[in-house]
Amino acid sequence: MKLWFLTGSQGLYGEDTLRQVAEQSRAVAAALDEALPYEVEWKPVLTDAGAIRRACLKANADDDCGGLIAWMHTFSPAKMWIAGLDALRKPLLHLHTQANRELPWSSIDMDFMNLNQAAHGDREFGFVQARLGVPRTTVAGHVADPSVVARIAAWARAAAGRAELSTLRLARFGDNMRDVAVTEGDKVEAQLRFGVSVNTYGVNDLVEAVDAASDADVTALTREYEELYRVAPELRAGGERHESLRYAARIELGLRHFLDAGGFRAFTTNFEDLGGLRQLPGLAVQRLMADGYGFGGEGDWKTSALLRTLKVMAEGRPGGTSFMEDYTYHLTPGEELILGAHMLEVCPTIADGVPSCEIHPLGIGGREDPVRLVFDAAPAPAVVVGLADMGDRFRLVANEIDVVSPLEPLPRLPVARAVWRPRPDLRTSAESWLTAGAPHHTVLSAAVGAEELADFADMLGVELVLIDASTTVRGLVKELRWNQAYHRLAQGF
Ligand code: MN
Repeated sequence: MKLWFLTGSQGLYGEDTLRQVAEQSRAVAAALDEALPYEVEWKPVLTDAGAIRRACLKANADDDCGGLIAWMHTFSPAKMWIAGLDALRKPLLHLHTQANRELPWSSIDMDFMNLNQAAHGDREFGFVQARLGVPRTTVAGHVADPSVVARIAAWARAAAGRAELSTLRLARFGDNMRDVAVTEGDKVEAQLRFGVSVNTYGVNDLVEAVDAASDADVTALTREYEELYRVAPELRAGGERHESLRYAARIELGLRHFLDAGGFRAFTTNFEDLGGLRQLPGLAVQRLMADGYGFGGEGDWKTSALLRTLKVMAEGRPGGTSFMEDYTYHLTPGEELILGAHMLEVCPTIADGVPSCEIHPLGIGGREDPVRLVFDAAPAPAVVVGLADMGDRFRLVANEIDVVSPLEPLPRLPVARAVWRPRPDLRTSAESWLTAGAPHHTVLSAAVGAEELADFADMLGVELVLIDASTTVRGLVKELRWNQAYHRLAQGF
C-alpha cells in the first residue's frame, strides 16, 4: 500500500512561489516516507479544480493507493476542492503543517508570509471538508515532531486495514454454531460496507485437501514443530501419540493449501460440523493465525475478518494479535481479572515465551483428541475488539486492557490463555460491554490501539464504542443512545 501526498496551492503568488511550494512539499512528503511504515508518494502541486478532481478519481481507481494526505501549503481557495472531495472514496488525512518550524522573527517579510500560510489555507480546507461532510482525520504539527508522525502512522495503519478488508476473501467451513445469535450477521451488508466476501464450503471440501497432503510434507512439518515448540514427548517422533501430531500437521497442510488456492486470508470452522476431520483443527488454526490469517470459531466470520484486518494494521509492530473469547472471572475485590481463551484457537503471537505443544481430550466436537499449543499471553497493554451486527448497522466495541501474568500457574488448564485487567475496572468494563451488546468473541491486540480503531471506524462509517480509563456506565449509556440516533440519520433513507 502507498499513500499519496497532495499539496494545495494556487497561481496567485507566481511561479517562483509555486516552485518553492513544490520543493517544500517534496521535503515534507520525503520526511513522512522515511518515518511511516508505508511508502509516501509525492504528487505535483494542485492549483485548479480539474487537476484536483482528476487526482481524486485516480486515487479511487488505484488499488495500490490506500489513502491521501493533503496539505494546503499556501492559500488554496477551497471551492476548487469540492468536486474532487465529493468524488473521493479513499481515506483522507488532512495534515496541517508548515515547512519551517521556527518563525524567522528578524527576517520575516510579506513574501515569507505569502509562501508559508497553511495556518490560513488549511482553515479554508477544513471548512470545505466540514461543509461536505468528508470523513477524515486531521493532524496538526510539524513532521519533525515524533508525536505528529505517530498520529499519522496510526491513521495509515487504519487505512491499511481498510484496504485489506475491502478485498478480503473469507472461507467458512460449515455454517454458524446452532442457536448462537451474536456470531450471525448480514453478509451482504458486510460486503457493501466493508468489502469482505464471505463464502461457505462444506467441511469435506477441506477434508479432501487434508487427505491429499503428502507424507513427506507431513514429516517435514512435524520436524518443524519439534524445533519451534516444546513438543510433549508422547507427540514426538517415536512417541506413542506421534500419529496425532502427524494428523495435526496434515490438517495444517490441507487448510493452508485450500486457503491459498482460493485466495482466502481468513476462515472459520465449526466444531459441530467436522465431517471427515479426525481432530478439531487446533494447532493448524493457531499457526495460520500466527502467519496472519483471520480466524473465528463457530462460524464467526465477523471476528475472523476483524482479526485479519487488525493483523494487517499491526504489521511490523511489537505485540501479537489473536482470536479471543471472554471465559471466566477472578472477582476478588480490588484485583478483578478476566481469563480469556478458546477451546484451542489462541494465536501464539501473543505468547509469553515458547509455547508447549500438547494433546488432551476435548469434550466437544466428538472427535479424536486434538493437538494444540498451550501458553500464557505476554503481559502488555492491549485492546479487545468485537464486531456486532445491530440489524440496521454494525457496531465495533473496544476495551483498553492490561494483559497480566496469571496470579498463579494454571497447570491443569490445557489451552492457551490470556489474563487481563480491563480498564477502567472489571465492573465498569463488563457492564459497558454488555450494555453495548458486544460479542463474546473478540480480537485481542497488543499492537493496535484506540487511535487506529477510531480512524478505521471513521473510514468505514461504522460506530465505535470505546471503553477506556475514562468510561462511566452512565456516560456510555448516553453515548449509545446518541450514536443510535446519529447512525440512523447518517444512513439516510
Ligand atoms: Mn467460541
